[in-house]
Amino acid sequence: MKDIPPRYNPKDHEEPIYSKWENRGLFHQEADSSKDPFTIVIPPPNVTGILHMGHALNNTLQDILIRWKRMQGNASLWVPGTDHAGIATQNVVERSLREKGITRQQLGREKFIDEVWKWREKYGNTIIMQLKRLGASCDWERTRFTMDKGLSEAVLEAFVRLYDKGLIYRGNYIINWCPRCQTALSDEEAPHKDVEGKLYYILYPFAELRTTNDEQRTTNKGNQGIVVATTRPETMLGDVAVAVNPKDRRYKKLIGKKLILPIAGREIEIIADDFVDKKFGTGAVKVTPAHDPNDFETGKRHELKPILVMNSDGTMNHNAGKYEGMDRFKARKLIVAELEEKKLLVKIEKHEHAVGHCYRCHTVIEPYLSLQWFVKMKPLAGPAIEAVKSGKIKFYPKRWTKVYLNWMENIHDWCISRQIWWGHRLPVYYCKKCNAVVVAKIKPEKCASCGSDDVYQDEDVLDTWFSSWLWPFSTLGWPEKTKDLEYFYPTSILVTAPEILFFWVARMIMSGKEFMKEIPFSDVYIHGTVRDAVGKKMSKSLGNAIDPLEIIDEFGADALRFSMISITAAGQDVFLSKDKFEIGRNFANKLWNASRFVLSNMSTQEHKRTSAQVKDLSIADRWILSRLNRTIEAVTKALDNYKFNEAESILYDFIWHDFCDWYLEMVKSDITALSRQPLAPYPCGMRSAVSSRAILIHVLENSLKLLHPFMPFVTEAIWQNIEERESIMAAAWPKINKHYVDKKIEFDMGIAKDIIVNIRNIRADMNIPHSKKIKVNLAPLKSRIMPALLDSMGYIKNLAQLEELNIEKAGFKKPKSSLSAITENFNIFIPLEGMIDVEAEKARLAKKQDLLRQQLVFTDRKLKDKSFMGHAPENVIMAGQEKAEKLKEQIERLEETIRGL
Ligand SMILES: [Zn+2]
Ligand SMILES: [Zn+2]
Repeated sequence: MKDIPPRYNPKDHEEPIYSKWENRGLFHQEADSSKDPFTIVIPPPNVTGILHMGHALNNTLQDILIRWKRMQGNASLWVPGTDHAGIATQNVVERSLREKGITRQQLGREKFIDEVWKWREKYGNTIIMQLKRLGASCDWERTRFTMDKGLSEAVLEAFVRLYDKGLIYRGNYIINWCPRCQTALSDEEAPHKDVEGKLYYILYPFAELRTTNDEQRTTNKGNQGIVVATTRPETMLGDVAVAVNPKDRRYKKLIGKKLILPIAGREIEIIADDFVDKKFGTGAVKVTPAHDPNDFETGKRHELKPILVMNSDGTMNHNAGKYEGMDRFKARKLIVAELEEKKLLVKIEKHEHAVGHCYRCHTVIEPYLSLQWFVKMKPLAGPAIEAVKSGKIKFYPKRWTKVYLNWMENIHDWCISRQIWWGHRLPVYYCKKCNAVVVAKIKPEKCASCGSDDVYQDEDVLDTWFSSWLWPFSTLGWPEKTKDLEYFYPTSILVTAPEILFFWVARMIMSGKEFMKEIPFSDVYIHGTVRDAVGKKMSKSLGNAIDPLEIIDEFGADALRFSMISITAAGQDVFLSKDKFEIGRNFANKLWNASRFVLSNMSTQEHKRTSAQVKDLSIADRWILSRLNRTIEAVTKALDNYKFNEAESILYDFIWHDFCDWYLEMVKSDITALSRQPLAPYPCGMRSAVSSRAILIHVLENSLKLLHPFMPFVTEAIWQNIEERESIMAAAWPKINKHYVDKKIEFDMGIAKDIIVNIRNIRADMNIPHSKKIKVNLAPLKSRIMPALLDSMGYIKNLAQLEELNIEKAGFKKPKSSLSAITENFNIFIPLEGMIDVEAEKARLAKKQDLLRQQLVFTDRKLKDKSFMGHAPENVIMAGQEKAEKLKEQIERLEETIRGL
């Protein structure tokens, strides 16, 4: 027998086990025509990333699926990799340079890029190493990087193909500009946040009243000019008109009149445009085509030339006159002051509105007119909408389908050029001599139009998502026609967080349909967001984040994985607190202890399994085999439907309760007796033959296999304790054997368990020590439970510590001074004569009852407290309600007991 330590210490096992898996190549998967493929591509974490709980959840789910499918016999490939994360990485490297007093401009583009690569060599593997600690079974031999050679080739290919099809164009449009990062951003990269701003009402005087003095103006504004409202007064310096709705009676007569633009002193015209909302502000709006997307359109309709008033760093430019060179927010203050001084500021209102913020540095976005590159999205969206509508791609949970379709049906063109240095440079070349534009994968030697060799490349790089949208096929070798691509594409499922549904998921569907003519995956599983115990999103800045690596150190990777999944209902947010990880740790320990007990009572020889015949089995054996097979069926079904926490809770119940609490207890005395004297008759008298401890091993091994995808390390450690052999990773997933499913046995055993529980409760209530054997009279109330009772009498006597169990007739009367439990199936009577001091017991029980009543009052008060109920997360409330129910039950039972005495 092996010497197994009494406690499972994850630290002793996790690293050596992981190295063994990796060294034996168990994560690696080749195309294999004898099997069905199952493929997942990892959502590539940013190369700057540090593992957080969101990653931990995301990757645990993927690992569960890939390990499960591997065991089911699929050729299962999990492709890992990282994303070069253009803006984020550039920011990180710039920051570290700044600490040395160097700017990227001082270094120049080439040297700066060298610095970024150096940074990547040094730190870029951090997150990969962290994923390994979680137990992720990715095929690391296939690790990709969005800037590696093959993936860069894919990006060029995609750009050129789309350009040739007319789906990529260059143009002057209002884009989201980050003045800090100094680059354009896509709409998705500039999320809107509600901010408390101000709405400034400004009087634009009529040109014909140019001479009117300030005094007169204040008396009757309506006759002096038009009042417009704006949240960004500094942009007024770029106004080219004031627009009103042509149906607006207030302004009808004024259309075509001229106004003086305050501060700038320019004349602008009052124009009519249907777009203007009569109800917003004053019904007259300033038109600033260079700084507002709607105004840009208005400007185009009226052929008004845009005037840009800002530089790319957010300072005012030469068009701002004396405000030139000033930061936009400082200029805002001074412009408002100047308007006030000139009596042109009518009023300021508080105004909550949504403002775009840079998703990388959180700077307020400036809508900014700029020459950029775009992808036409409508033609790409069509097939991607169809793929979801037709059901070829399914979202889990289903509600995301609507979100996806809604976004796709209202899609805007995608601004893909970024004014940064780290990324894929646009494959666009210009002729200095004749300005011809050439789009090509390799730099042309000469201009095709004029023959000049003075050709230079566009300075911009592509949006990072322009490489990650190709991820499901670029990682498999595209644009080459590789064997991997043919075998593993389309992938099976994408597991992702909701934040990147538009950034990434939707775009991958579009690119898959466009370049591969085939969907990139058939299922999309969108998991929830990780929150703290009170429901706040975990974040470093809030200081409420739990570091997964710390949890792995303290509780083990299995505990982290199991606990997190166990409290994550499909697609719901996860409410985490540190104590939650005890669920997983306790479970790992329970399993470890059970297996230790099993193995310590067996010789190595007995570990070899023998096929047990049903006729040789005790009813406890038949019961556990039935439960096992139904568990196999239920867990597999739950996984088939991506119900991860349901699968876990079924397993938990089976292993903890059925196997450890019941089955092991039932057979404990047998196997310990047997290990002393191999041929002793079966103590409970149930087993017709010594059917060996094979059943124990069989159930334990199958439990380990079922649990392996969720808790890979402890299951492997126990697997090897049973017998040194090939990894459990390579074991076959258990299949249900219907032959063993026996509803009758489960019913019978249910009755026996019920009796035992009832007797145990009475024993506990009455403080009867475990060692003291008692007598019980049992009266079945239904004839059908009689055979069940006869079969399981041995177990009942054994597990309830009975010296006598008398089966009575249905009409059996309650003996004097006895306690009873009455259920729908039977009555139990425990005569107490000579067992306890009745009066002392009564007093003790009454005291206990009082204590419980106090607890109930406290819990009830909390549940009635409106402020508590309004703020507590649902799971806390549910736990409270459950507690109250339990307390009520206990109080009632005590009441009955006291009466019985
Ligand atoms: Zn920024
Ligand atoms: Zn040329």
